[in-house]
Amino acid sequence: MQINTSIPSLRQTVNGIALAVAIITALAGPLGYALVGYGNNSARASFRAALSAHRLASYIYQNQEMWKYQKSRLGELLVLAEDPHKLGRHRIIDNTGRLVLSEGEVPAHFIMTRVASIIVAENTVGFVEFSIPLDNVLLYIGLTALFSLLLSLCVYAAVRILPLRVLDRALGALEAANRTILDKNAVLEEQNRALRQREQDLQSAEATLKHRSDQLVEAQKIGKIGDWSYALGDADVWWAPEMYELLAHDPEILGCSAAAIKALYVEDGARRVLDSQAEVMRTGQVNSVDVKAKRGDGSIGDFAVTSKAVTNAEGRIIGFSGTIQDISARKSAEETLERLAYYDPLTGLANRALFHREINDVLTHCTQTGSRAALLLLDLDHFKEVNDSLGHAAGDELLCKVAHLISRALGNNHFLSRLGGDEFAIILRGDVDLSAIEALAAEVIATISGSITLDWGEVTIGTSIGIVLIPRDGSTLNDLLRHADLALYRAKEDGRGRFDFFEADMSAGAQHKIVLARELRRAVNNNTGLSVHYQPQVELSTGRVTGFEALMRWTHPTFGNVPPSDFIPIAESSQLICDLGLWILREAALQAKAWIDAGETAREIAVNVSAAQIWHTDFVGDVVRVLKETGLPPHLLCLELTESLLADHAEGRVRTVLTEFKRLGVTLALDDFGTDYSSLGYLTQLPFDKLKIDRIFIGGIVSSERARRLLEGVIALGRGLGMLIVMEGVENPDEVEILRGFNCDVIQGYVFARPTPASQALTFARDPGAKAGAPGIVEVASEPAIQRTLSAAG
Ligand code: C2E
Ligand code: CA
Ligand code: CA
Repeated sequence: MQINTSIPSLRQTVNGIALAVAIITALAGPLGYALVGYGNNSARASFRAALSAHRLASYIYQNQEMWKYQKSRLGELLVLAEDPHKLGRHRIIDNTGRLVLSEGEVPAHFIMTRVASIIVAENTVGFVEFSIPLDNVLLYIGLTALFSLLLSLCVYAAVRILPLRVLDRALGALEAANRTILDKNAVLEEQNRALRQREQDLQSAEATLKHRSDQLVEAQKIGKIGDWSYALGDADVWWAPEMYELLAHDPEILGCSAAAIKALYVEDGARRVLDSQAEVMRTGQVNSVDVKAKRGDGSIGDFAVTSKAVTNAEGRIIGFSGTIQDISARKSAEETLERLAYYDPLTGLANRALFHREINDVLTHCTQTGSRAALLLLDLDHFKEVNDSLGHAAGDELLCKVAHLISRALGNNHFLSRLGGDEFAIILRGDVDLSAIEALAAEVIATISGSITLDWGEVTIGTSIGIVLIPRDGSTLNDLLRHADLALYRAKEDGRGRFDFFEADMSAGAQHKIVLARELRRAVNNNTGLSVHYQPQVELSTGRVTGFEALMRWTHPTFGNVPPSDFIPIAESSQLICDLGLWILREAALQAKAWIDAGETAREIAVNVSAAQIWHTDFVGDVVRVLKETGLPPHLLCLELTESLLADHAEGRVRTVLTEFKRLGVTLALDDFGTDYSSLGYLTQLPFDKLKIDRIFIGGIVSSERARRLLEGVIALGRGLGMLIVMEGVENPDEVEILRGFNCDVIQGYVFARPTPASQALTFARDPGAKAGAPGIVEVASEPAIQRTLSAAG
């Protein structure tokens, strides 16, 4: 920057110097020559004039009077002749100023004249004047000037151009050097910057490192990790201070001897750590082992010991280093998880998941070794009743008691699990023989049969057991379970409180029933696939719909619509019917109340009740609760009971229950009359309001006089007992006409309407004549039989 600004002034200076030198050179030559030439000529002229004056003075002294006229002598006396060039002019002038003599020639211009006085006897008698021409001098001055000018030009050029070129070169070099320096400076600066950056990086890396190592220490604390190391052959182990902290041991007391540290491991911990290190020796890989160790406070914790080989320069293992992590929290969480995942929280028994794992293990073991095991499947009788009548807490208590009783009967040798609800499974491991299995099954049944005392009171329970042999009765978990289920079903069919072995020839029908039973239980528990259809009941005298029978429907996702004739008996055999019965009672009551609330004519709703409901549940209580819950007037509820109710029970008890129903104000109908044995005398004592005559009595009445008479007799009997007569299964108008003749009160049958969903049933009830064109006869379903009925009626 500085160089750049001083360069122009330097150039100007050089320029000035060159100019000055050139001017001096140009002027010095001619001026010098002029000075010298002038001086020379002046001296010569002065000398000649003085010399001539001197000579003349001598002459004049001698010829004082005549000298002025002796011109030729005068002329000789002048030194003119001595001048080889005869240059110049002499003139002699007397003291009066008159020209005495003029000798020689000079040009008119460029002459130099010098005068000398002629002194005689101290008197000036005249003057000698000498003039010389200067043209030669002038010529040389001109030439010199010309030469000097040329010289000065050269000098100027030399003085100006060369230095400037040198200057330029120097400047160029300087600039290059400058640039190099700048470049170097920039590089240096860059390096500096990089250096500074690196320094910063280093500082921040150092900070990070510090932070990390702080974090590591913190993490070790949080993660409960400490590190250790020891050299092979050393008696001492090095423990980081955190290790002592981690295990709550005082370093002073515990010390660091390998023996003291080994003693901290409990069970076979020390051996397993050594095994793990032997593994590290063998493989060179890091190895970890979970062990239990004693803490300083006496508690025992779970620790993960991780070992790694320490090698010397040659790669030989010279010791071990590693970490110890307190994993007690994780272990206990794992145990909790395991408990949650594999154990039933209520009874503490293995759950279904663990049962699956176990049975798969047993299956594999049996198949591999050829040994035999057994699976016993049991469920409790009457559990549902306890649950429903005493509440879930009592049910839970019962399950716990039962679990405890079975466990005690089994001892430690066998695997017991609760599969869900009141279902338990026992796996008998080891090569068990049949008699041992039978003995054990009998013992379990004996243990949990009879009455058990709960906080809530005494309950009577029992169980049945289905048994399969592994691997004889199935090669998969599913097969084994299915077959055990079949055996259990059979045991129950044979009468409760029994065990039964699976037999490969068990009928497909029986197997299907069991599958249905399981699915039905699922449908009830999840309330999926069940619905209610309503079949109108028509009063013959008026043609009006006076009530509906509520009928259960079950649609299974894969089996489709399962007819009640299939699933009701299954439900009855497993007591699932109690749940189903309560469910439909509530549904039907809700529906009937909804119709009333919607302003429909009050009509009775009939619900089928199974004997099991009466004997095994608090059905009277259920009815009271449902009526209260739904607000349905009791007289609009009709309970349909079959004669089976009367079969195995004491007359007094039946009468008591029925009387209670009557007291509630509900209507009672004797269903399926005529299909079962009943003592007429007995019947007359019971407070039934209606008699529903089974449809077998309708068969053939149109064609057979005998059948007609039989039906007429049955109706008359009912009437005689003061009951309202309902005829079921009426399919054609001829039958209707015959029934009208017999004074039958109510008809329920396809001839009027099939069971349908509530809305359709209501539509029919509002206007029974709408479709058929004849009062009281309407088609709801479109079966060919009905078509025929209608055309016959029309
Ligand atoms: P049920 O109590 O005798 O019911 C009358 C059965 O006769 C119904 O069969 C009904 O559809 C059928 N039916 C009505 N009119 C005619 C007809 O004109 N011709 C013919 N062939 N059949 C007619 P569903 O619905 O199949 O029920 C069969 C049985 O299942 C019922 O006989 C009843 O014993 C039982 N059931 C149905 N729902 C329940 C329920 O909720 N609880 C109980 N415990 N049993 C039920
Ligand atoms: Ca019925
Ligand atoms: Ca019936």
